[in-house]
Amino acid sequence: MRDIPHYINGARVSGASGRQGDVFDPNTGAVQARVPLASAAELARAVETAKAVQPAWAATNPQRRARVMFRFKELIERDMDDLAHLLATEHGKVVADAKGDIQRGLEVIEFACGIPHLLKGEYTEGAGPGIDVYSMRQPLGVVAGITPFNFPAMIPMWMFGVAIACGNAFILKPSEKDPSVPVRLAELMSEAGLPDGVLNVVHGDKEAVDAILHHPDIKAVSFVGSSDIAQYVYVTGAQNGKRVQAMGGAKNHAIILPDADLDQVARDLIGSAYGSAGERCMALPVAVPVGDKTADALIAKILPEIEKLVPGVSTDPDAVYGPVVSAAHKARVEGYIQMGVDEGAELIVDGRGFTLQGHEDGFFIGPSLFDRVRADMRSYQEEIFGPVLQIVRAKDLEEAARLPSDHPYGNGVAIFTRNGLAAREFASKVNVGMVGVNVPIPVPVAYHTFGGWKRSAFGDTNQHGMEGVRFFTKIKTVTQRWPSGEVSDQAFVIPTMQ
Ligand code: NAD
Repeated sequence: MRDIPHYINGARVSGASGRQGDVFDPNTGAVQARVPLASAAELARAVETAKAVQPAWAATNPQRRARVMFRFKELIERDMDDLAHLLATEHGKVVADAKGDIQRGLEVIEFACGIPHLLKGEYTEGAGPGIDVYSMRQPLGVVAGITPFNFPAMIPMWMFGVAIACGNAFILKPSEKDPSVPVRLAELMSEAGLPDGVLNVVHGDKEAVDAILHHPDIKAVSFVGSSDIAQYVYVTGAQNGKRVQAMGGAKNHAIILPDADLDQVARDLIGSAYGSAGERCMALPVAVPVGDKTADALIAKILPEIEKLVPGVSTDPDAVYGPVVSAAHKARVEGYIQMGVDEGAELIVDGRGFTLQGHEDGFFIGPSLFDRVRADMRSYQEEIFGPVLQIVRAKDLEEAARLPSDHPYGNGVAIFTRNGLAAREFASKVNVGMVGVNVPIPVPVAYHTFGGWKRSAFGDTNQHGMEGVRFFTKIKTVTQRWPSGEVSDQAFVIPTMQ
């Protein structure tokens, strides 16, 4: 049995708490490795290490810090195939998706390569007589990231890429369900030249998360996961005086107007509703066609595509999507399908009971399609996070646009139309953080910023882009003048009072 270590102070470290978790191969349902679950004392040792090395890292000039990121990028590219294979066999997403997971994280590393420019402050000459004002961004010290299972490469890189480039030391507490890739990423950062102790990976569950939230030397916590835990992390971290950004769950809608290119919509929905078995926070699990004619035409186009969608082993290059992450998650998704049936939605395609020959114990679920889902149904209100597409019919654009705006989650939304004015109005008014216009998964590029609204994000700064730089730095503003004569002769006048 493989043991996955912590990674502290530049070395693999075995767990000492006596507690450990099982890491499954979702393709077979068998336990393939064990992961240690850290105690508060183990977490504290990692923080102590990080705290000791952080000042020297912060004092390393930003160009040299950026060079580590450049080298790290090359190493990830060198090891892309191995990393993607490791990711696919723990998470269950297919290798092509695993490469996408790594690539989208790498793009944040590329963004972080520009850190010397991004950290430049502001300067005002002559704010008063002989008085200049300048501001600088300084790192926070030791910061932490707590990440979900569904993007074990991208989300850690969103966080540590920016945080470390800014001069912080980082504690990563990855998901205990697929923890191997985060350890490899930390090893590659060491190989790229990052000093020991600047990036540490501490595995664990609630105990480790609580230890992070209560540790006085951790100054900021970046969290991504489900909404109830995001809210808990936000509230607890803030109570302990920490800066917290906490991204939560999602239920993203696709609004389809009668003038949309339905062939494109059908293709996009197949990819965005069922890709990665629906385990993406920017998946599109709700389609809202406007008018019954659009709904009927859309269903006629997607049904034959769904029939071709057979899940397969995540390392099979022909598989469109793989198993979900765990037996418990499979049972949860199937529970939501039953809930939809009980609530009166029309189940057109039922993915329950799917088995893959030779992999009968794998966590596979076939694709499901519901029609005539209503906004008052619990199966609509809650996040399913599986290969299930729900169609909610709307009579006009106004009714369709209300659905994502009124929904408790507000991560992403997409509108499909040829009408620029309708799309523009929709993008302006919709109460959701990320909008796609004829783009199904509107994940912003790394130099823009990622974050939803409502129960999809707590805290007020987004991930990556300048928002990420702001989150992981504190701003200091200096107002200075240099006396020309005796210092004691000078009276200090605040510029705005002149
Ligand atoms: P999760 O909330 O179960 O776990 C996230 C992290 O919290 C993990 O590191 C886990 O160990 C920790 N955790 C779990 N239970 C905890 C508890 N009781 N107390 C403290 N910490 C706890 O989420 P998941 O199942 O790993 O990931 C899927 C969820 O993440 C979905 O809801 C998905 O929408 C969301 N997600 C959101 C975004 C976004 O940017 N908004 C991105 C990816 C995933």
